[in-house]
Amino acid sequence: MALTKKQVVDSAKDLGFDLVGFSSIQYLHSEIENLKKWLGKNYNAGMKYMEENLDKRFDPTIILPTAKSVISLGLNYHIEEDFENLPNHGKVSRYAWGKDYHIIIWEKLDQLISTLHEIDNKFEAKSYVDTGPVMDKAWAVKSGLGWMGKHSNIINRNIGSWFFIANIFNNFDFEPDKQIEDFCGTCTACIDACPTNAIVEDYVIDSNKCISYLTIENKNEITDEFNGKFENFIFGCDICQDVCPWNNKFSIQSLEKEFTPIFKEIDLNEFEEMTNSQFMKKFSMSPINRARVKGMKRNAQFLKDFNDHS
Ligand code: SF4
Ligand code: SF4
Repeated sequence: MALTKKQVVDSAKDLGFDLVGFSSIQYLHSEIENLKKWLGKNYNAGMKYMEENLDKRFDPTIILPTAKSVISLGLNYHIEEDFENLPNHGKVSRYAWGKDYHIIIWEKLDQLISTLHEIDNKFEAKSYVDTGPVMDKAWAVKSGLGWMGKHSNIINRNIGSWFFIANIFNNFDFEPDKQIEDFCGTCTACIDACPTNAIVEDYVIDSNKCISYLTIENKNEITDEFNGKFENFIFGCDICQDVCPWNNKFSIQSLEKEFTPIFKEIDLNEFEEMTNSQFMKKFSMSPINRARVKGMKRNAQFLKDFNDHS
């Protein structure tokens, strides 16, 4: 039996994906031009991997030669809880409160692809979540999951922007969905709220100034210009998404149990004596693992230094 779009949507929803959209395989001309301009200004900071594989980012048929369409998926991770602002603790970005989303989504993608293959054994696919040479946000926009907000996250009209994106390149010619128009309008809430002025123009983030980059991917010291500007985030930053009216009006509770918070606020003293193996034992299943023990020690010390002097 030939695989239908409805079967893909139903199978994805059965696995808990909140959003499903489709786009046709195409070269990403304007997206790659924008990426090149962004890289040219060194806005990728230390993320040198962003400079690699531009050919694959531009043309997904290098990754899967038979690719005809993309299935874009969204998984809502919003938990309807706030920070308690515990004394001497650092805040963790919402996406990292629970189990590592890569592990959760890879498992769902494997299951989805095997279900679709069972329905039609001609189905060939290659899937990505956040890793690999893929313009994940660009495909999510093309597949109609939402529009790119001025803070550069994708916003869906029904659930806001608290969702992870996955993409499946595949060899079926599914009818593309319509792209959603940009509903940011004249709003500048995210730009105004960013404490480090990292949104240097609409839709453009300078990672050198972004707390999310500075606390996770960054391998260097955090410089004094950021003293007192982290709003107590020790890992990541949610400020631009927190102030977005689309999140305030439309975010809904995630149904994914694995996103139940484990690390929402972390004791700043916890990392002082922590060894690498203790860190791995505690955080190996958490996105916090990405910052490594060295990064978390640095982040904790940075917040503590400021707190001690204020
Ligand atoms: S994540 Fe934080 S620092 Fe980065 S752009 Fe958003 S508000 Fe600014
Ligand atoms: S805060 Fe306003 S400008 Fe920023 S992404 Fe949301 S709607 Fe767009």
